[in-house]
Amino acid sequence: MAGEPQSDCLFCKIVAGEIPATVVRETDRTLAFRDISPKAPTHILVIPKVHYPNAAELAAAEPEIAGELLAEAGEVAADEKIVESGYRLIFNTGAGAGQTIFHAHVHVLGGRPMNENMV
Ligand code: IMP
Repeated sequence: MAGEPQSDCLFCKIVAGEIPATVVRETDRTLAFRDISPKAPTHILVIPKVHYPNAAELAAAEPEIAGELLAEAGEVAADEKIVESGYRLIFNTGAGAGQTIFHAHVHVLGGRPMNENMV
């Protein structure tokens, strides 16, 4: 069923507590944790606890949770004190865009100049 945990999904296992993560924020419906391979001084992933393969499918099925994901990304940026310096939110969607984990997530990246080219 849509949104149900997937046994082969790494992020579902993090939500279930089966794989450890450095959690920085949690709500009833979202989890934010540090990326294991950070590309910037702040690199945090915000995910819904429900499973959808990407953010677009999450937004189509459960727009309130998609909105909460964005709100939590903003709270993460405030907690990390990167609002003033600027930060980037990235939703890789599809393998061709570099998506490797097919559970919706947004990357929150900051703490260094983020105004270089997008690619
Ligand atoms: P994607 O390329 O947009 O799918 O991003 C997946 C991200 O998950 C990558 O930046 C990985 O470094 C990160 N990642 C993979 N495994 C783990 C983990 O166990 N904990 C935290 N982050 C992870």
